[in-house]
Amino acid sequence: IMEKLPKSKTLELRQKHIGGAMKMFFSHDPVKIVRASGQYMYDEQGNQYLDCINNVCHVGHCHPDVVEAAHRQMQVLNTNSRFLHDDMVLLAEKITSTMPESLSVVFMTNSGSEANDLAMRLARHHTKGTDVITLDNAYHGTVVTTMDISPYKLDRNTDGVHPIPDHVHVASCPDVYGGIYRDCDYPGEDMGEKYAADVDEIINKIHSNGRKLSCYISESMQSCAGQVIFPKGYLKNVYRSVRKAGGVCIADEVQVGFGRVGTHYWAFQPEGVVPDIVTMGKPMGNGHPVSAVVTTREISDSFQKSGMTYFNTYGGNPVSCAIALAVLNVIEKEGLLEHAIIIGQYLKDKLRELQKELPIIGDIRGRGMFVGIALVKDLKTREPATKEANETICRMKKEFILLSTDGPHENVLKFKPPLCFNKDNVDVLVNKLAVALRDISTSSEEKAKNTQEINELSHDKNNSAVVDFGRQCSGFSSSLTSEVVGEPSAKVMKVH
Ligand code: PMP
Repeated sequence: IMEKLPKSKTLELRQKHIGGAMKMFFSHDPVKIVRASGQYMYDEQGNQYLDCINNVCHVGHCHPDVVEAAHRQMQVLNTNSRFLHDDMVLLAEKITSTMPESLSVVFMTNSGSEANDLAMRLARHHTKGTDVITLDNAYHGTVVTTMDISPYKLDRNTDGVHPIPDHVHVASCPDVYGGIYRDCDYPGEDMGEKYAADVDEIINKIHSNGRKLSCYISESMQSCAGQVIFPKGYLKNVYRSVRKAGGVCIADEVQVGFGRVGTHYWAFQPEGVVPDIVTMGKPMGNGHPVSAVVTTREISDSFQKSGMTYFNTYGGNPVSCAIALAVLNVIEKEGLLEHAIIIGQYLKDKLRELQKELPIIGDIRGRGMFVGIALVKDLKTREPATKEANETICRMKKEFILLSTDGPHENVLKFKPPLCFNKDNVDVLVNKLAVALRDISTSSEEKAKNTQEINELSHDKNNSAVVDFGRQCSGFSSSLTSEVVGEPSAKVMKVH
């Protein structure tokens, strides 16, 4: 199946019939993808793109084992999940075998949002608490309850109809490079403790208001916040405080789970913590919608004792379970965890070489095949290089590499490709990135110099001759509009 419509017609119908708020990558010059394989995607003209974005198609686009499992099961049976079926229990057994022993009970759902919504319900019934602690810049899903705990989205909501509710408390994002406490400002201090103290303060506030904590929820590495790796000890300290206050700890592994970190299956594991509830989705079905919540027997029992029965029409249907089982089998069969370590390290090493030459690269961080590159205007001030980051991804797209930006300032290049990404792919990526960043850095310096000169010449601050820095980017990206390159509010590649 290739193109059914010419691209112009697809765009026309999209504008007519698809909700405008449904985001598209490069919305002013979208890529039309008609097929994909492994780490490559192909547009309608047959151009091959290297995919550095798709953590969903985890073991590679259209992996034959996954396609085969879906096809086989689809031919035999697909029904709702209220019948006894082998694959649901085999999947639950397999997932829990990758987890610490206490996490032994699984609920099947269809999306990350549903999984997080259910996780909060479980927490509420178990603790009888109401209040939730979430992190700044977090995204946990698109339904009302998960929007409530997603400052990443609510902070950008302009009509004010969806404020952060009273029962939700936002703790600082523990980003030691660009967060409220930066390692450079607190040399020698225990940053894990420092950020965790924020959560302690929130817990005190909850108690002094006569309220009760239900849960703390965070990713184990924060993806939407800009590939943030937590300072050592942060999660350990937080989990201790939350449990002391009678709350439970939820790890959202929807983006970062299933072996992406390489050393472990789950991103909470390198942090040395064991959550009470884990949610997972995206990579689980390699593109097919399937997700799950894993918890302890105790928490599951509390939910059951509350009189709740959980019914989810599609959650755990035989086809979804067959697919998720196939994904886990491929991860094992192809040694993708070890591969993630090797490729991730190779990428970071190459980027660190490049960093010596290019001061626009402020920070390189990550675990396995989850890497962030923070671009900055100045290494000392760490001022985010937002426009430059946007220009970079536009340049990369022209070079047939799909890369995205993220973080509150959208200055972090986000690398989270299918796990079959290889060394040759890294070489291509870094070579092209080097060319783009060299150009962009040189041009930024020139622009800054020009701006300074013009400012010095200008007596009138409103003089139209003053260079608008943002709009100068068009030199690199002539076919792209201001949404993509220029506007400070540009939200081009929200990939969550
Ligand atoms: N949690 C995290 C960390 C996510 O990144 C996402 C999706 N980007 C979700 C939850 C929601 O998942 P879904 O879109 O499948 O509902």
